[in-house]
Amino acid sequence: MRALCWVAADELAVREVPDPELRNERDVIVRVRRSATSGVDLPLLAGRDPLLRAGDVLGTEFLGEVVETGPAVRRHRVGDRVVVGASVACGGCWYCRRGRHSCCDNGGTDVASVDPGLGRSDAGCFGRPRAAGGFAGGHAEYVRVPYADVGAFRVPDAVGDDRALFAADAAPTGWLAAELGEVRPGDVVAVWGAGAVGQLTARAATLRGAARVLVVDRHADRLRMAERHAGAETLDYRSTDVAAELRERSGGRGPDVCVVAVGVPPTRSVADRLTGRDVDRPDAVREAVHACRKDGVVVVLGGAPGHVDAFALGAVTDKRLTLRGSRRPDLRDVPMLLHRMARDELRTEHLATHRLPLEDGPRGYALFADRADGCVRAVFTP
Ligand SMILES: [Zn+2]
Repeated sequence: MRALCWVAADELAVREVPDPELRNERDVIVRVRRSATSGVDLPLLAGRDPLLRAGDVLGTEFLGEVVETGPAVRRHRVGDRVVVGASVACGGCWYCRRGRHSCCDNGGTDVASVDPGLGRSDAGCFGRPRAAGGFAGGHAEYVRVPYADVGAFRVPDAVGDDRALFAADAAPTGWLAAELGEVRPGDVVAVWGAGAVGQLTARAATLRGAARVLVVDRHADRLRMAERHAGAETLDYRSTDVAAELRERSGGRGPDVCVVAVGVPPTRSVADRLTGRDVDRPDAVREAVHACRKDGVVVVLGGAPGHVDAFALGAVTDKRLTLRGSRRPDLRDVPMLLHRMARDELRTEHLATHRLPLEDGPRGYALFADRADGCVRAVFTP
């Protein structure tokens, strides 16, 4: 089959790779109908993950049709149209039984490869290197989906592919951010980053009853989307004193909840150069910690750098902040999000700004990485 593979830093290619096969009785094979680029792919593209190998198939977010099922699969039949959650989780471990699929003990299968400084590995993930389980991703004609009863979800007939696709990753990540932030009716919520996850975090906050949602970015087209589709107010940080504006729009206190959804900052710090470690300048995190009201919650999403320097720990203690984070979404919210999509409460298809054949994958990623031509997500069809 054909698949979009990582070859070397900043080099992708569509290659012929072996068809996936059932390896476990709980697997299904899915024929892909749509797959999308993701912000967490960008450090991989740049070759910043030492565990990535030439030929690894990328693609975190995908949707397709079940074409083969293992003998222990109960919830899926051949022909089902399914969206597959980005997190690979077993469904049976201590975390999965509590709905914390993103913390699954069995999804990421190479714990030893995770930086010891991070403690433990999180769940597995499609289209990621060994530390996240080494599962081939969805930028391909076919994908093996492990633990299919846990991670694949039948899409209601009323929801089209271009909408349901984002129930795999961006929508549940945004929902999880609002949940981790404990967004309550009447809250003021600030979101840094107006990409797909930032926009869907803003929408989740609105659906949970936030009184005001403010999205911070510099891309005018993304900010317009956040206004139109998430009902958010927007701040262009190039022309606005963000901290002052957030105070002004939150009764002088600062937002109740601050979510950082900017993906991985490209800059590297002095400490990074000195130590050679994966240390980045978390400007948006610093701004969020500074802006958040006392006793508020700061949520950091996505592929944040492993280590940061000059973190304002004093602000966390002095302002008794709650600091939370997640790299991957849980799976438990996917059915609820699909129902909201079916009821037209949650629209996501506008995020697919560029639709391309899989053959044009390298070009799609170039557009996405550069945010060129208004690209929010490039969506591929095999
Ligand atoms: Zn588990």
